[in-house]
Amino acid sequence: MRIFDPHIHMTSRTTDDYEAMYAAGVRALVEPSFWLGQPRTSPASFFDYFDALLGWEPFRAAQHGIAHHCALALNPKEANDLRCTPVLDALPRYLVKDSVVAVGEIGYDSMTPAEDTALAAQLQLAADHGLPALVHTPHRDKLAGLHRTLDVLRESALPADRVLLDHLNETTVKQAADSGCWLGFSIYPDTKMDEDRMVAVLKTYGTERILVNSAADWGRSDPLKTRRVGDAMLAAGFGDADVDQVLWRNPVAFYGLSGRLRLDACQPGALHEGNSILRGGE
Ligand SMILES: [Zn+2]
Repeated sequence: MRIFDPHIHMTSRTTDDYEAMYAAGVRALVEPSFWLGQPRTSPASFFDYFDALLGWEPFRAAQHGIAHHCALALNPKEANDLRCTPVLDALPRYLVKDSVVAVGEIGYDSMTPAEDTALAAQLQLAADHGLPALVHTPHRDKLAGLHRTLDVLRESALPADRVLLDHLNETTVKQAADSGCWLGFSIYPDTKMDEDRMVAVLKTYGTERILVNSAADWGRSDPLKTRRVGDAMLAAGFGDADVDQVLWRNPVAFYGLSGRLRLDACQPGALHEGNSILRGGE
């Protein structure tokens, strides 16, 4: 089973996770930018983080045979913090980098006016840079959040078929599917979607335009949830081609819209700016 995790925050994960992901079949991933767990206090903090997602983390992933790409943005939560919003002005110089395959994750957290502004501005940046957008839908008030998201999308310059709506569930999938956007589902150990509910969604909506991710981050999460969905699909009677479409071909098609996907980028033993992850004597 070959797996592309289209949304996972490796910066908060360990080398054990990379090893287990490779063993489970993960060969590529996209790491969207998000918060640090604690508030950032200046745009400079974003710049170091963006540089890590562009350089250090792809290098670390390559040591484990996994191709790493990223999506960059001001995240929805910090769109409300005036110490952070100036990062919007600096984003254009990052969005031109080779391994940036989307603007993301953007969208709503608490659905504030500041989040409206950041979402609209970043959809425009995606359109200007020929990039698709990864749009997070809120974890509270999901349906209202989706409606507001779709309203802003319709007024944007970015067509629906270049947008991935993420963190969907049974309450939002119908309207998200009708919008013409790509559909993302985050599978978690004990909240939101699980693998059996995901299989039920796939039985109802089919395998087109649907992406499944582990969204693994600082909280309790499982970076092998993609594999577990593949196994649950096979157990439920889906074929290998269906699994390959959901876990590989759909994410490749979506992020391929950027024209920047490189799926051969694995060079174990290489150096990153003169540094390896090996310790003395290894
Ligand atoms: Zn995320």
